Amino acid sequence: MSETNGIAGSKSLSGLKVLIIGAGFGGLASAIELQVRGATVKVLELSPDMRKQGDVIMMGPNATMIMKKWGQCLPELLKGAAQPRHMVIANKEGKGVEVVFDARVTDVTETEESATVTTADGQTYTGDVVIAADGVHSKARAVVVGVKDRPKKSGFAVYRSWFDFAALRQNPKTKFLADSEEALFQMWIDQDKHAIITTNPNLQKATCFVTHKDTADIKEDWNLPGDPADMLAMVEGWDPLLTEVIKQVPRDCLIDYKLLWRDPVRKWVSDHGRVALVGDAAHPHLSTSGTGGAQAIEDAATIAALLEKLGKGKAALALRAYEKLRYERTSLTQRMGFETRHVWHQTDWEAVSKNPEVLKFPQPAWLNGIDAGDYATRRCEEVVAHLEGGAPFASTNIPDGFVHEDWTIEEMLAHEGKKGDFYKTR
Ligand SMILES: Cc1cc2nc3c(=O)[nH]c(=O)nc-3n(C[C@H](O)[C@H](O)[C@H](O)COP(=O)(O)OP(=O)(O)OC[C@H]3O[C@@H](n4cnc5c(N)ncnc54)[C@H](O)[C@@H]3O)c2cc1C
Repeated sequence: MSETNGIAGSKSLSGLKVLIIGAGFGGLASAIELQVRGATVKVLELSPDMRKQGDVIMMGPNATMIMKKWGQCLPELLKGAAQPRHMVIANKEGKGVEVVFDARVTDVTETEESATVTTADGQTYTGDVVIAADGVHSKARAVVVGVKDRPKKSGFAVYRSWFDFAALRQNPKTKFLADSEEALFQMWIDQDKHAIITTNPNLQKATCFVTHKDTADIKEDWNLPGDPADMLAMVEGWDPLLTEVIKQVPRDCLIDYKLLWRDPVRKWVSDHGRVALVGDAAHPHLSTSGTGGAQAIEDAATIAALLEKLGKGKAALALRAYEKLRYERTSLTQRMGFETRHVWHQTDWEAVSKNPEVLKFPQPAWLNGIDAGDYATRRCEEVVAHLEGGAPFASTNIPDGFVHEDWTIEEMLAHEGKKGDFYKTR
C-alpha cells in the first residue's frame, strides 16, 4: 500500500480494531480504506474462498475515483475489465487484510466501548467497531435496526450466467462475438423483461442475463440452478443473436437469481454506535440501479474518512455522521433501480422515437461526480454540529434543490405495469 496516493500511510487510525462481516464490495472496500489508515482489520466471510463471487458489475467514476487511491488495485482490475465503447439498447428483435473464510457470523453484540461478533463455530472476535457488510440477507441488520425485517420480493428474478468464450465458439452464429477484440454490451427490452449480453475479450468470458417476472413463489434462495431451456422460452421470437447466445450458455453456469430488496431504513448504526451497516445490508439495490456495489464502496470511503477526521475516541460519532451523510443519497440510488427498470419494462416507444436518450442508464453528475471520501472530510464538522447541537444540515451529494422524500417498496411496486412519470432520479 505504500504506493497508494492520497490516503496512504496516514496511520491516523492505528490502535483502532475493526471487525468486518462479509467480503463483498462493502466489506473489502471498508477493509482497504481502514487498513491504509493504520486500523487493524479482520474480515469474516462465510464463503470458503474467493473463487466465485458473482459475474459482472459496472463501476462508475464515483467508485473508481475511490479505488484509484488503492495503489495498484485499479490498474490490476483494468487489465481484466471489459470497457465496451458503447452500450446498445434494442427492442426485443484488498492487500494484506486478514480474511477468515468459512466464518459465518451468527451474533453481534456491543457495549459502549466495543462490539463482538460470534461465528457458527463458537469463536468470538471483539473490536472497537464492527462493519456489517453482510449483504441483502444481512443478519446484523436486525441487531442494528431493532426490528427483524426480511428481504422483500422485487417482483422479478434474473437468469444470470458467466461462461467461457469456448461455448460461443461452438456455434457459427455466435463465434464472431468470441473472436471480436471489442467488448460488447447489448441490451434488449420489452414489456416486463429485459436481456443483456456482455463480452470481455480480456478474460475471454461472456455473460447473458434475462430479467423476468418472479412468478414462482420460491423462498429467499438467491441461487437456484437455472435451466437454459426456461431462459430461452422467456425470449422466444426475440433477436436471433440473443437466442443463439442463450443456446450456448452451459447449464452449470446458469442460476435463476431472485431479485430482493428492502425498504430504506434510517437507522444504520446500533444504539451504542459500535456496529454500522454498510452496502446492501443498509440499502439493497436492484441490479437496474447499476450502482449498488459502487454505493457500498462509497460507504466504505465515507466511514474511513470520518473515522480518520474524528479519531478512535469518537468512533461512535463517526458512524452516526456516516449514516447522516449517506442516507438521502442511497435512498435515491436505490429508487433509481426501480425507475430504470420501469423505463425499460413499460417503454413509451413514442417518447423514445422523439428522444432515444430516455432509455439510457442515468449517469447524472450528482451520482458520478462526487468523491465520497472527500465529501465526508469536507462536511464532517457541519454534520457533527448537526448531530450534537441540532444545527441545520442539507445534503449536497443529491441533485441540486432536491427535497428528500421517504418511500417504500409497496409504493414503487404500485407503479408496476403502468406508464407514467413519477421519476425522481431521471
Ligand atoms: C444481477 C445483478 C447485477 C448488478 N449489477 C451492478 C452493477 O452493474 N453495478 C453496481 O454497482 N452494482 C450492481 N449490482 C449490485 C451489487 O452487486 C450489490 O449492491 C453489491 O454486491 C453489494 O455489496 P455488499 O458488499 O453490500 O454485499 P454483497 O456483495 O452481497 O456481499 C456480502 C458478503 O457477506 C457475506 N456474508 C453474508 N452473511 C454473512 C455472515 N453471516 N457471516 C459472514 N459473511 C457473511 C457474503 O457471503 C458476501 O460475501 C448488481 C446486483 C445484481 C444482483
